[in-house]
Amino acid sequence: MKFVDLAASLDQMEATSSRNELVRILADIYRNCSARELQPITYLIQGRLAPFFVPVEIGLGERSLMIAIAAAYGVPKEEVIKLNRQTGDLGVTAQDLAKASPSESPSVVEVHERLNQIAAAGGAGSVQQKLDGFTGLLRDLDAISAKHLVRITLGKMRLGIGDPTVLDALSMAKKGDRSLRPILEGAYNRTSDLGQIAWTLWDSGEAGLEALKVRAGHPLRPQLAERLPNPEAVIKKLGTVGVQPKYDGLRVQIHKDADEVKIFSRNLESMTEMFPELVAAASELDVDSVILDGEAIAYDAESEEYVPFQETTARRRKEGIQEMAARVPMRAFVFDVMFRNGSDLTPLPYERRFAIVEELLRESDTLLTAPLTKTDSAEVLTRDLLDNISRGLEGVVAKRLDSPYQAGARNFNWVKLKRNTSGHLNDTIDVVLLGYYRGKGKRAEFGAGALLAGVYDSDKDEFVTISKLGTGLSDQGWREIHQRLASLEVAEKPPRVNSTFVPDAWLQPAIVVEVLADEITPSPRHTAGMAADHPGFALRFPRIVSLRTEDKKAEDATSVREIREMFEQQRRSKG
Ligand code: AMP
Repeated sequence: MKFVDLAASLDQMEATSSRNELVRILADIYRNCSARELQPITYLIQGRLAPFFVPVEIGLGERSLMIAIAAAYGVPKEEVIKLNRQTGDLGVTAQDLAKASPSESPSVVEVHERLNQIAAAGGAGSVQQKLDGFTGLLRDLDAISAKHLVRITLGKMRLGIGDPTVLDALSMAKKGDRSLRPILEGAYNRTSDLGQIAWTLWDSGEAGLEALKVRAGHPLRPQLAERLPNPEAVIKKLGTVGVQPKYDGLRVQIHKDADEVKIFSRNLESMTEMFPELVAAASELDVDSVILDGEAIAYDAESEEYVPFQETTARRRKEGIQEMAARVPMRAFVFDVMFRNGSDLTPLPYERRFAIVEELLRESDTLLTAPLTKTDSAEVLTRDLLDNISRGLEGVVAKRLDSPYQAGARNFNWVKLKRNTSGHLNDTIDVVLLGYYRGKGKRAEFGAGALLAGVYDSDKDEFVTISKLGTGLSDQGWREIHQRLASLEVAEKPPRVNSTFVPDAWLQPAIVVEVLADEITPSPRHTAGMAADHPGFALRFPRIVSLRTEDKKAEDATSVREIREMFEQQRRSKG
């Protein structure tokens, strides 16, 4: 197939608003191309050179493309910029500037290869090499082809060809109807590679698709969770479940294949570069090949604190990853395994897979097993939910212990239970320091890893715990606080302190610290506001705003009564 013919079909697709029509045109393309064209076409129509999980980028942005367009058509760059301001679409700009069509259009395969060469250019002089390569390609193409080539390069196809459209079109091309969709979808869920699926269907038919298996190095589409309104509904629908904390981080699929480790996001993009510490931990696992599923989150083991989602996702930026890895190391809480040493584990019941996760990760302190508790009681599930929320987690995921790993499925094998969190606290809270945990690494230098903090119960005249604190202070702040803690350290728990936590060192309640938190949550472990018939309160995502100096005594800290009021108010504001 000539690229000009593909471009003509893309133009037709652009002109239609009917999905059926889109499928029909795409099916025609598949019918009219040869087997070796199936893969390049499948990637190109999605604005890619390879499947999404392969991180190849052409590496030419708008500004570079403007230079190439100017060079190809012999116009000043300013003219390209000006015209582009009018058209608002660099593809159309290229189309408008393209001169008479060359007599011979290159084939789709040739264009794909030349784009791959451009993508591969690296090192000194590569910018010019890429520009020259692209300029040359533009000169060999007609106006409509130029438009689509520019859009492919920018990854802005504007056609709305999603994965299901491609699967339908493949089925239409082969069978004349959509009946192959389930089998195509199954293969897609296991391999995530539409090009490979297209090729396999042509090469070895339905049996070939069935034979496409999960393998290390190739992400499978993640299993997703359904939702139910409350713990009672979960137990009613699922019976006995395995309950796990729901971490608010980033989904990671970790692949180890001999010496190579790859990490993929929920959307199957490569995230290997983002998480050097997870890569290092995975390569140390005592296994030849494995695929793990989990959630990456910055976690401070000493304070048992989960760093807010924003910090975890700051890794998306390309710069400073090593520095971030040192400052807020990532952990992955692993909850599943889909493949090990050549065997597909997805058909095994969850309970068996989980046992394998535990066995595999026994030695690692970066890849941690997400704890699982088994219950058929709504009360226990409720308690777990509250407990996890109070620890700064999002809630829980309840899982059917007998369920297989269903790649790409969102069903009741997994059910997520969260507390609705809309309102944020905007008042700061003054807490009293009641103890501290000795730090490791850098924090040890400052003498304290995390602080146990409480509020004042004026009715009982006691200090009750509400949070552990670990974030918000500068190095200087930690030094300062340590100096002040030294003189307050006592051997035993002070009598007026009521705590279920036992820190490494107790403190006389004296230092008041101002804290901002996202919200107040119920807690089965913190003693603030705790009574026989209801749990205590905890702070979600607390961070220190300032160290109060002499202006507040311990008894001037925020009181339990105020905390209770804030909690009620927060509930009302959420409706
Ligand atoms: P949601 O994004 O709200 O649909 O919730 C599902 C997501 O929760 C998954 O995609 C994971 O990224 C995340 N998650 C956190 N902890 C767990 C867990 N223990 N099991 C499964 N998914 C989890």
